[in-house]
Amino acid sequence: MPDSQVMEKLVSLCKRRGFVFQSSEIYGGLNGAWDYGPLGVELLKNIKECWWREMTFRQNIEGIDAAILMHPRTWEASGHVENFTDPMVDCRQCKSRYRLDILFEEVSAKKQKEILRELDPERFKGQQRDEAVLKEFQTLAEGSPGAILAAMSCPNCGNRGTFTEARKFNLMFKTFVGPVEDSGSVVYLRPETAQGIFVNFLNVQSAARQKLPFGIAQIGKAFRNEINTKNFLFRTREFEQMEMQFFCRPGTDVGHFEYWREQRFAWFLSLGIPQENLRWHRHEPGKLAHYAKDAYDIEFKFPFGWGEIEGIHNRTDYDLSRHEEFSGKNMKYFDEASKEKFIPYIIETSAGASRSFMAFLVNAYAEEEAPTAEGGKELRVVMKFHPDLAPVKAAVFPLVNRDGMPEIARKIEDDLRRRLRIFYDDSGAVGRRYRRQDEIGTPFCITVDSETLENQTVTVRDRDSMRQERIASDRLCDYLLKKTTPRAEGNPVRGQ
Ligand code: ATP
Repeated sequence: MPDSQVMEKLVSLCKRRGFVFQSSEIYGGLNGAWDYGPLGVELLKNIKECWWREMTFRQNIEGIDAAILMHPRTWEASGHVENFTDPMVDCRQCKSRYRLDILFEEVSAKKQKEILRELDPERFKGQQRDEAVLKEFQTLAEGSPGAILAAMSCPNCGNRGTFTEARKFNLMFKTFVGPVEDSGSVVYLRPETAQGIFVNFLNVQSAARQKLPFGIAQIGKAFRNEINTKNFLFRTREFEQMEMQFFCRPGTDVGHFEYWREQRFAWFLSLGIPQENLRWHRHEPGKLAHYAKDAYDIEFKFPFGWGEIEGIHNRTDYDLSRHEEFSGKNMKYFDEASKEKFIPYIIETSAGASRSFMAFLVNAYAEEEAPTAEGGKELRVVMKFHPDLAPVKAAVFPLVNRDGMPEIARKIEDDLRRRLRIFYDDSGAVGRRYRRQDEIGTPFCITVDSETLENQTVTVRDRDSMRQERIASDRLCDYLLKKTTPRAEGNPVRGQ
């Protein structure tokens, strides 16, 4: 199936089955914002729950939930007021706005050659290898983007030479506290959750009586006024992050960095993303963020190409030093054993909850042949979510709506509902009920049939293998809990 079709099908399934809706759809929608529907909110919560357990069920990680609005000096100290900008160009003709680096990235290799030949016919007249051209194009894009812009056409209206010069655009959303809208009351919607952790470093350390090395984890909303929002949930203006900042003694940072890289990659694997759909992207030394000593992204293979889902960064002592400088407050850690005072280094693991949501959706989507009750074959759409992530854990069906089966099925539903998200369905043939559950990724379907009346067993049908087994109805709850919820024993006491 072509990749563009996968996205189209997913977006349509998300709307039809209640995973994701366009924000304020009845008003024509709002770019870069999406609403999670009844199934979407369950999937998102399960992702966050798995992350929370994975990260905070350790003796040396504490959780917090900091406010979205922070003192504006925070963002001066962090470098966001000055550096959190993207270069942007507008088309004078059709008014489309582009992020410069993305505009350049999307120029095909063929077009790049044409542009280079036009700019320097002598040098580029011969046929060059693609990688060589790509490299030349990139160097020029970084050195004199204006020359390329002048030779390019706008992807929207097709007009040539209509781009403005590149300008810096700050991605933070600004608003005001209190009734007066002046420069003294400006605050920002946080563009990352990390700063709420840094400013609370000593509060958490002393309240939780932690010693280095230890981490602070947080899940929360972040806002970025992205120039181009696209690819569904991939780049949105409002999104959620799952971040952990690990504080350690300088000199031990490289070891911790490697440990967290390995841990975070393993987390995606453990939730069913195959190795071949994940890869590392290391930031080249010249392209590191202003605070970073080393940085890797975990990338997932989306239908539109590889894209970052999580960043693991060695942030050094940059953040705490800056907060010490800007706040005038001590941010140093006192080491009881050695009686030394120093600013710890920070290893950050920063994942997007919404981007992971999209990766898990893409990863789960499958179309397969399935047998029909009449012995034929039909196509089934199945969302193969890891059971820990599945929004609905089991569906309960009475085979027919008579002979006492609905009453037994309702009783089973009531019992299970106390512990798990359950769906009850008594309409249509059982085969069709299975298909409806497959499409939303329900791992187990339980059917009450005539045998149940005799021996209190039910059939449990597995979503992926489509095989059925009989289970005593009083064992169902334990069976499902074990198979569909994140298990504490999966998180041995760990730490570094
Ligand atoms: P990108 O280069 O894609 O804009 P970034 O490098 O700015 O991402 P970070 O600042 O490292 O991203 O943010 C950490 C994580 O937050 C990313 O890996 C991603 O999962 C998520 N994230 C960042 N920006 C967005 C966004 N606009 N929409 C959804 N998720 C985002």
